[in-house]
Amino acid sequence: MKRTDLVLLGGGHAQVAVLKSFGIAPMQDVRITLISRDRHTPYSGMLPGYIEGRYDARESSIDLVRLAQFARARFIHDAVESLDADRHKLTLAHKPPLNFDILSVNTGATPMMDAVAGAADYAIPIKPVPALMAHLDNVMRGDAPCRQIGIIGGGIAGVEVALALDYRLNRVSGQLGGGGIKIHLIDGGVRVAPALAPIASRWLMGEMRRRDIAVHLGRDAVAVAPEKIALDDGTKISADLTLMTTGASPPSWLKESGLALDARGFMAVDSHLQSLSHPNIFGAGDVATLTANQRPKSGVYAVRAGPILRDNLRAVLAQKPLRKWTPQQRHLALIGLGGGRAIGAWGNMALPPARYLWRVKEWIDRRFIRRYAL
Ligand SMILES: Cc1cc2nc3c(=O)[nH]c(=O)nc-3n(C[C@H](O)[C@H](O)[C@H](O)COP(=O)(O)OP(=O)(O)OC[C@H]3O[C@@H](n4cnc5c(N)ncnc54)[C@H](O)[C@@H]3O)c2cc1C
Repeated sequence: MKRTDLVLLGGGHAQVAVLKSFGIAPMQDVRITLISRDRHTPYSGMLPGYIEGRYDARESSIDLVRLAQFARARFIHDAVESLDADRHKLTLAHKPPLNFDILSVNTGATPMMDAVAGAADYAIPIKPVPALMAHLDNVMRGDAPCRQIGIIGGGIAGVEVALALDYRLNRVSGQLGGGGIKIHLIDGGVRVAPALAPIASRWLMGEMRRRDIAVHLGRDAVAVAPEKIALDDGTKISADLTLMTTGASPPSWLKESGLALDARGFMAVDSHLQSLSHPNIFGAGDVATLTANQRPKSGVYAVRAGPILRDNLRAVLAQKPLRKWTPQQRHLALIGLGGGRAIGAWGNMALPPARYLWRVKEWIDRRFIRRYAL
């Protein structure tokens, strides 16, 4: 019988469930290959705690090399540069091209760097996380002088990053984090974290005001230059370091892939997580859009897609019927404030800042990481 080549592209939150399942229950005549730009994939729930310095990289990420070993999968440490969906072929940055029979894509998204002039040259995207952390480590060591930080994008990620950075740089006692670093959060909307209930936004605003984080609402950043951010009303904000936490954009290589895409350029998949154009290609997490049931691009949905992706890849390999997925509309969001506190939000309801909410968040996050610590 012919061997089937299953290629897993990107070791995101959904793909780890696929790997674990093949480790527990291998399938005959299936060769699995994992291609990932990173050996350790950061877990989104623990990102703010990682930025804050509460967790180290190992604690807050999944070791993909070990997981691939467990799944008896080949691990290729490289970044994909192009996909030819019709020819079943991937081109990598450093290694020879690779063919596949079945492909599963879970490479995430990156902030919209093109949205603001000069951002691609002078700002740092919040993702990929390892590059961001390398830069922050330079700031902590004093190798990259930094007195003012500008964060463009006031969604949940932008607020969490602002609060976590404030803890890391201004509040952590000891020789590092000497303090006095001014943080600016910039967003064109009328409130921060608009995905949450209005009361939750108010609590987040209150927390930032109390911590002397400057929030500039209702004004779009239009240009980033070295040490400066220009807003659309002519205001200039000094920033030695500018971070981009603006909404997700798809990887550039999808454009020429031949895959069906949604209006924003993400992979268009159906309720089986199967490409609308290529039934042998699946997609999950931020890189894909469920066209019939669109949900926000967030780690929660990427995690929940894991079991569906796992079952459907196994089903397609076994030529069995696929499982449909309707992601739930709401989920509990626990937003870290730094210093071991969090707020909670569920649809239009919200829970005020509390330590117990952080403990719940930590328990959930550590449980997820433990599941893949083999
Ligand atoms: C600061 C911050 C805080 C956040 N907090 C939360 C939160 O609390 N809850 C929540 O639900 N969401 C949160 N998010 C959003 C969350 O991070 C993303 O929605 C989530 O990571 C998406 O998961 P994913 O599996 O699609 O991709 P990712 O987690 O981005 O994983 C993609 C993987 O693919 C690899 N990869 C990427 N490109 C390539 C390539 N070309 N070739 C090979 N490999 C590649 C990467 O190395 C990575 O391992 C946060 C985001 C940020 C920035």
